Amino acid sequence: MSAIESSTEGITITDARHPDMPLVYVNRGFEAVTGYRREDVLGRNCRFLQGDDVDQPQLEALRSGMREARSVSVQIRNYRKDGRLFWNQLSVAPIFDEQGQLTHYIGVQKDVTDSVVIQLSLRERERELIAINRKLEDLAAHDGLTKVLDRQHFLDVLDDRWSDNRSQAPTVCLFMIDVDCFKQFNDSYGHAAGDAALAQIGMALRKVFCRDTDLIARYGGEEFVAATTSNSNEDAATLAQNVCRAIRKLQISHGNSTVADVLTVSVGVVAVDPRGCSIDAGLRTADDALYEAKELGRNQYRIVPTPVVDSAARPTAAINGLAVGRM
Ligand code: GH3
Ligand code: MG
Ligand code: MG
Repeated sequence: MSAIESSTEGITITDARHPDMPLVYVNRGFEAVTGYRREDVLGRNCRFLQGDDVDQPQLEALRSGMREARSVSVQIRNYRKDGRLFWNQLSVAPIFDEQGQLTHYIGVQKDVTDSVVIQLSLRERERELIAINRKLEDLAAHDGLTKVLDRQHFLDVLDDRWSDNRSQAPTVCLFMIDVDCFKQFNDSYGHAAGDAALAQIGMALRKVFCRDTDLIARYGGEEFVAATTSNSNEDAATLAQNVCRAIRKLQISHGNSTVADVLTVSVGVVAVDPRGCSIDAGLRTADDALYEAKELGRNQYRIVPTPVVDSAARPTAAINGLAVGRM
């Protein structure tokens, strides 16, 4: 008994024959760990160490172990007499008499606060690092000026979607969007104003292509590209119209534009069936439609009316066969 008495770990014995399982013995280690004197606690159930902090999943594991009279080990929050929290590594084992009747529980308690605090702060740190990593990945995928995806990430994501869409077979609409007379804009207002305008355009485009599955990227210079899944050409036409309107609505003055007194864009749109058309061919067709929109006077969109079926093996035949629709 003197070895138990002088153990630095807290040792308790509770009377399991009594319905409330009162403490009948605590050693000096228990007094040191909890701050309670033995005369404070003998006759009481040990649960007072939890204070009001009763919503701990590990407590249920402790209770069910004791209900079933088996050994159980848990890590729980307990409170010292002075109210200070400590993490208690508690192991409880049943003691039976010769008739096999449960008579007592012996409990061993260890204050593991230091290592738990380190573990918790490491976990917190890990969560922070994961969040920072996600942010960095996100930043790396986006164009710094316009905050839309960069071209390579757009193409990578589109490539994944392309294979998915092959099996589900919805139409993919591709939009090539190019700012009109932007060279003159830079010449008139300076490169910094040009950058600010591109940033505004990026933000406006993100609002137009706002569904979770929409993709919008800076394709290069003052040219953007977007991809949506859609079941009809009408949807694509509406989106293209919204793009033109959204940029005009920014009301960015452009005194030297040949088409309007504000900054405008031209859009080329194509609806493609990924089962019969490569990404390259789809983008080239959208670019052809954009060229057409420019030729026809800018500040407008042109949509290729029927889904393009154009296997990578025979790209030119299908592209040459396209009709270009009017706005
Ligand atoms: P169009 O209507 O035919 O598209 O005429 P445009 O003047 O827009 O086309 P062009 O290709 O002749 O000129 C594009 C201009 O876009 C020239 C280039 O300096 C400008 N530009 C490209 N990238 C940036 C950028 O990041 N910032 C700024 N400020 N200007 C850019
Ligand atoms: Mg341009
Ligand atoms: Mg351009």
